[in-house]
Amino acid sequence: KMDKDLGQHILKNPGVATAIVQKAHLKQSDHVLEVGPGTGNLTVLILKAAKSVTAVEMDPRMAAELTKRVQGTPEGKKLKVLLGDVIKTELPRFDVCISNTPYQISSPLVFKLLSLPNPPRSCILMFQREFAMRLFAKAGEKLYSRLSVNVQMWAKVSHIMKVGRNNFNPPPQVESNVVRIEPKNPRPQIAYEEWDGLLRICFVRKNRTLRAAFLGTTAVLELLTSNYRLFCAQNDIPVDDSPVDDAEAEAEPETMDLDDEFKGFSDPDDPDDELPDFFKQLQAESRKKHANGVHRKIKGRVSEKVRDKVRKVLEDDTQLADKRSRLCDEGDFLRMLYAFNQEGIHFS
Ligand code: SAM
Repeated sequence: KMDKDLGQHILKNPGVATAIVQKAHLKQSDHVLEVGPGTGNLTVLILKAAKSVTAVEMDPRMAAELTKRVQGTPEGKKLKVLLGDVIKTELPRFDVCISNTPYQISSPLVFKLLSLPNPPRSCILMFQREFAMRLFAKAGEKLYSRLSVNVQMWAKVSHIMKVGRNNFNPPPQVESNVVRIEPKNPRPQIAYEEWDGLLRICFVRKNRTLRAAFLGTTAVLELLTSNYRLFCAQNDIPVDDSPVDDAEAEAEPETMDLDDEFKGFSDPDDPDDELPDFFKQLQAESRKKHANGVHRKIKGRVSEKVRDKVRKVLEDDTQLADKRSRLCDEGDFLRMLYAFNQEGIHFS
């Protein structure tokens, strides 16, 4: 019996399995990681073309079936099956990753593969069509999103082929695509948390101008204020916002009701649209820092100095204030991050 939650759709078309393994351009010296081998339709082909395979499978019945399938064959000795959730498993070093991925772990799997200390030469991964298309979408295209910018910062992504749902048993609800992800080597020298933090703000609504994304939202300015004050404290830079006495600090009025501010803004069809949860999280974070005394004795949750810095970065330094995130390319985001960091404004 198939377990729906594990995304168990077995690839039944041997032509597709063969094509996937061919596209991996395996060398006989390669160590391969396979995620979710299931009954092993891809595994047996990979074993023939590589030096060794580590297969991570969460379902013990599938793992047992795979082990039995290769037992006693010459390839059997090349296979190591790890039982468990690939996201939580410590992975050995490998050259190539191949996976007909269980779709519910698509995003964490991609980021896990991209953050490994020794990233693989390439990854050949099957995904649900829309996720695959977001991976390689370019600025201005319909599916361009935070995922696109983020992944393309760390890797080259290319499309390999479409795979119709009837190639699987049972057929999934959606069509699939196979993509190749080649991590950039050397890895770009940029802090992931900073990059992702900037992108989160820009892509809350990808159709908004950057001015609106940064200056039109109290929660964003509150967060950047918190981060800026922390940065100043850590670097012995005086914060020249006026201090207030404790009584006034405690009595500071509530700023705004997020649910009201964002009513009607949310777009359930846009996977990047995290409103208003993302802002709630931001606000909670900056209030926690506030309460913990990082800057309790300083007036205001939004620093006017920070607001001016943000305006300067967007309007003068980068001149990106009127541009919309969906039209910004990697170069635009990099320029923005650099200019913010130059002003002491950080995103993590
Ligand atoms: N590779 C096989 C094929 O192409 O026929 C099966 C692919 S099926 C779409 C996904 C497989 O991943 C299933 O065998 C499932 O049990 C396994 N799986 C699901 N979640 C997993 C996880 N978090 N870690 C490892 N394996 C997982």
